[in-house]
Amino acid sequence: MNRTMTDAELIQKFDEAIEKDQIYVNYQAQINHTTGRMLGAEALMRWKDPEFGSQSPADFIPVLEKNGLIYKADLHVFEHVCKFQKRCMDEGISLMPVSVNMSRFDIYNTNYIDSIENIRKQYGIPVKYLRIEVTESSAIGGMELMSSVLSRLHSLGYLVEMDDFGSGYSSLNILKGLMVDIIKLDMIFIRGDIGGRGGTILSSIVQMAKWLDTPVIAEGVETVELADYLKSIGCNYIQGFLYSVPSDEDTFIEYIKTVKHEPLTASLSLVNALDSGRFWNPESMETLIFNNFSGPASMFVYDTSDRSIEILRVNKKYIAEVGCGRTEKQIFETNPWDYLDEENRKIYEDTILDAIESADEETCETWMKICTDICGEEKICVRSSIRIIGHGGDKYLLYAMVRNITKEQQILNQYEENERRFKNAFEQANVYAWEVDVATKEMRPCYRCMRDLNLPPLVVDYPETAIKAGIFPPEVADKYRDMMKQLEEGVGTIEDIIPLTVGRVPFHVRYTTEFDETGKPLKLYGSATLVVE
Ligand code: C2E
Ligand code: CA
Ligand code: CA
Repeated sequence: MNRTMTDAELIQKFDEAIEKDQIYVNYQAQINHTTGRMLGAEALMRWKDPEFGSQSPADFIPVLEKNGLIYKADLHVFEHVCKFQKRCMDEGISLMPVSVNMSRFDIYNTNYIDSIENIRKQYGIPVKYLRIEVTESSAIGGMELMSSVLSRLHSLGYLVEMDDFGSGYSSLNILKGLMVDIIKLDMIFIRGDIGGRGGTILSSIVQMAKWLDTPVIAEGVETVELADYLKSIGCNYIQGFLYSVPSDEDTFIEYIKTVKHEPLTASLSLVNALDSGRFWNPESMETLIFNNFSGPASMFVYDTSDRSIEILRVNKKYIAEVGCGRTEKQIFETNPWDYLDEENRKIYEDTILDAIESADEETCETWMKICTDICGEEKICVRSSIRIIGHGGDKYLLYAMVRNITKEQQILNQYEENERRFKNAFEQANVYAWEVDVATKEMRPCYRCMRDLNLPPLVVDYPETAIKAGIFPPEVADKYRDMMKQLEEGVGTIEDIIPLTVGRVPFHVRYTTEFDETGKPLKLYGSATLVVE
């Protein structure tokens, strides 16, 4: 009768099952999808009861964990794997690393590592052929405990795999805190959502793993489409039904005889040392990776050897801010230098070099020329604040926060142009001009006022500041205040003769008021011309 055993039955039959090898091991290959070669295998615990048939690990493992039996079961599996490796050695079959699952409950058992070491030595298996898989949930007992277990395993020469990465809430945090050698991504957590959020998360994790120089194995891959997609985002290593279902020892030995082997390496060696704490801060990290960054931003690699730039990531806000109708794909596919003319390229590149040198944020403003089918040609001015977040060899990983400041720049240009014209006009007409904002009492003098009366570009609390500064003789101060009062109350024009400048030369002072739609005075335009006798 095939059926799922009850907890009581499992507990009761456990010892016998271990003794009689009713608890045994299946092996599943890990394959490089690009080369078709094998990288290693995972050992999976199986329980076949003579009476009730095969039991699912999803059912019996939690029961073993709850009842303190998992430790014994895991050592049993470990011993099976060592026997398997010994058999390969004896039969002259080239050895492959086999990963063994370590339950999170084994973390608490201080004997675990000593025990596996004893077994390993007993069978004489080189440590490089055994790997340990841990899960994020193992860190529940505390990161420190987990860290010490990992460093002990490392010191003995074991490589450690982080299983089911991406399933937990604080994955990124854990990854930063723990030195794992290999990341395993379970497709179950992504399944069916490759085009959407799942795909974004997936490619972000793969990207991040590249920076950490950590190989990634995708687990649970059943289709060529998924394998191809994974390959397209830089993850070649696959464990799943697509290549091999878990099989018993004999079947698996026949299988490994037929496939070529290759060692596991990191997908791309880019950034070895990410030292910026800010970058790995879980808050900024999570936001960064999952596209919720507070402002428009991109991440790119600058290569000092060929001075190239490769954009790695842009967030949605980046596309909205400076995309100009480009899709994410178009942004990635175009060489970023193509948008900049020689002058702007130099500005941008100098800023990158400054950022690399200073290890601080450096800002520049550059004009980009962007051509798209939708918008045609468009010139935009972008302010970029660039910061280095990592580096490896000639490659620097940089982070740029961007803002589209085209409008501001255009207004500024216009303003400068006006300024220039006024300056010329006033110079010729021998007239001083200024404007006063009624609401704020701010006065903006023309360039000649600034020069001859020694005024700043913005005078606050006008006219009191000017009176205090002695621009008007004290005896006309009240008269001037009165003039201003009338204007504020809505008089359209006023003029008078007032002695001005250091020499108290009489000037013809005129004011014209600008009103808003409701008739309230907004601005007072003042001018002064020399009184010619
Ligand atoms: P796991 O460590 O994540 O193991 C991978 C699981 O995914 C295995 O399930 C495997 O058969 C399954 N799998 C692999 N490729 C595919 C695929 O393409 N599609 C689908 N749908 N599934 C795939 P399994 O063998 O049922 O094991 C379940 C879990 O039980 C394991 O998940 C692991 O957490 C635990 N386990 C297995 N063996 C051991 C062991 O020796 N010790 C401990 N402590 N836990 C173990
Ligand atoms: Ca596993
Ligand atoms: Ca897994």
